[in-house]
Amino acid sequence: MEIIIFWVLASIAIGVWAGNKGRSGFAWFILAVLISPILAAIFLAASSDLSKNPVAALEAPSPKTHVTCPDCAEMVKKEARVCKHCGCKLTPVVEAPVPTVGGTGLTGRQIIGIVLALLLAYGIFSGR
Ligand SMILES: [Zn+2]
Repeated sequence: MEIIIFWVLASIAIGVWAGNKGRSGFAWFILAVLISPILAAIFLAASSDLSKNPVAALEAPSPKTHVTCPDCAEMVKKEARVCKHCGCKLTPVVEAPVPTVGGTGLTGRQIIGIVLALLLAYGIFSGR
């Protein structure tokens, strides 16, 4: 009986481990149950870590590493001097707040008004 409990617990551990490696935790859990957690652990240890894959990191741009191109609105690396999507010249961002667009931007008071109106609308509609 204990072996079954160990088997399932070990398989769950494999699933969690696989998830940490950027792989499907559920699929690895099933695999571990089917072939044995020990074999699955060996396979998993031998498999490459997808979560540290630089290609995967490139596919998921985040505001921490990327900025939005002002010309084509695609995400490009902060350090980029030329947009890879449209080829327009960019100014590399050096950890500074993005300057607000002068002239066309909304004033702080207008933004507060819009936010209050949205909150009010949300309150009215969600109240019913
Ligand atoms: Zn661009």
